[in-house]
Amino acid sequence: MEEAVVLYPSPAIGHLISMVELGKLLLSHCPSLSIHVLITSQAYNAGSTTSYIASVSAACPSITFHHFPATSLPPDFATTSPHHETLALELLRLNSPNVHSALTSISKNHVVHAVVIDFFCGSALSVAHELSIPCYYFFTSPASVLTVFLYFPTLHKLYTKSYKDLNAVLHVPGTPPLPSSDIGKPVQDRNDRAYELFLEISTNMPTSAGIIINTFEKLEPRAVQAIRDGKCVPDGPTPPLFCIGPLITSGEGKREGDSNGMSYCLTWLDSQPKGSIVLLCFGSLGFFSVEQLKEIATGLERSGQRFLWVVRNPPQDTDRKTATSAMPDPDLGSLLPEGFLERTGERGLVVKTWAPQMEVLNHSSVGGFVTHCGWNSVLEAVCAGVPMVAWPLYAEQRQNKGLIVEEIKIALPLYESESGLVSSEEVEKRVRELMESEEGEIMRERVKSLKEEAKAALSRGGSSSVELSNLVESWKRKRGSGME
Ligand code: UDP
Repeated sequence: MEEAVVLYPSPAIGHLISMVELGKLLLSHCPSLSIHVLITSQAYNAGSTTSYIASVSAACPSITFHHFPATSLPPDFATTSPHHETLALELLRLNSPNVHSALTSISKNHVVHAVVIDFFCGSALSVAHELSIPCYYFFTSPASVLTVFLYFPTLHKLYTKSYKDLNAVLHVPGTPPLPSSDIGKPVQDRNDRAYELFLEISTNMPTSAGIIINTFEKLEPRAVQAIRDGKCVPDGPTPPLFCIGPLITSGEGKREGDSNGMSYCLTWLDSQPKGSIVLLCFGSLGFFSVEQLKEIATGLERSGQRFLWVVRNPPQDTDRKTATSAMPDPDLGSLLPEGFLERTGERGLVVKTWAPQMEVLNHSSVGGFVTHCGWNSVLEAVCAGVPMVAWPLYAEQRQNKGLIVEEIKIALPLYESESGLVSSEEVEKRVRELMESEEGEIMRERVKSLKEEAKAALSRGGSSSVELSNLVESWKRKRGSGME
């Protein structure tokens, strides 16, 4: 029978792309495998997944996508949680019967070596256990965030207050001291449904067969060691950890209509001096209020730096920092300060909604990156050797900021006011520092050397390549199979 691995990503595009890249990597180590990707119907981000899935299907016949029927929450469903993560987790839980039937059907004509699930798809762990299929997590955030998730049940016992009221510094093995206010927004409140769901996933995670993580040892040695030493799960065994990154997308087909934007951005970059451009781009979900956009524009203009800035339509609801559905393109003339586009046209390009970030970061004209600290973006910056300014917006990004600013020292912090607004003065100051200061230069050298470490980790005999081989070897041994 054909040998298979089933991948179950969360539908957010960043997570889906990482999971598919993992599938491609598994195929490069073991071409006889077939990869089956389970797709839930809720895509809740600004980037559509349709064209991405179509392009992967066309390019990689060994990867098959299985689309689940649409699920929706019962009409009387009520949650007090304001976080989109809660909705995502609840909807993913409803997919457990779909996961069960997909795994059962794939198992009829394949030897399924493993099901690899996203952290958000933790409800599928019990389904895999029920069907006796080894279940692995694929963690798309850094190891220093994994330390916190694994340690979460311990923290839950240590404290009785919600993190939002705690005002303490948390000490998690392998991780820089973590202000309780920096722990992910959805788990700030113990009474929020999101807290309960995350706690359940964190508690069950150590019962998985292993954790595959998109990082490499040299990037986060302390966190990786702490996990491997069992320090983050003091009450029981820690599953094996496989650091197989950096896994980054090959870039094609991420979003509908991408290709025009791509060629325009890159042609424009060709005309700019080497290393002169700051990229400002905030993930698949991030966007700002009109007030904040104006502050950024003013700061950029005053900084005198060259820039490429991806601008999205502001939310209707000004409290939100994430797009939950595809948004229309912004009307730049009405959003940005009067005359901004004309005055900066010589040295700046504003791109609507989406830019080919990977290609832009790897263009020789780009020398800095203002990022929301999404982990894919951070890894892409590392692989391109580009230093950053860290502007976390949502999810675990405040923790990622702590890691890249304080521990790895490849990013400058950006300070926001109590109301959450970042002033034009702060934008101006940080962008200048990034591009012109000695500190910026030191960070640039550091990130360039990490770029080389990343290449080495992925090369034959490198740490990430060896860890992936070990994983595949362990599947072969378990099933005594003829995988090649
Ligand atoms: N991305 C892009 N163009 C954009 C915005 C995002 O290509 O205008 C890509 C980016 O290169 C990365 C992914 O979308 O691969 C975003 O993932 P990340 O983990 O950084 O953030 P998330 O969207 O999950 O918050």
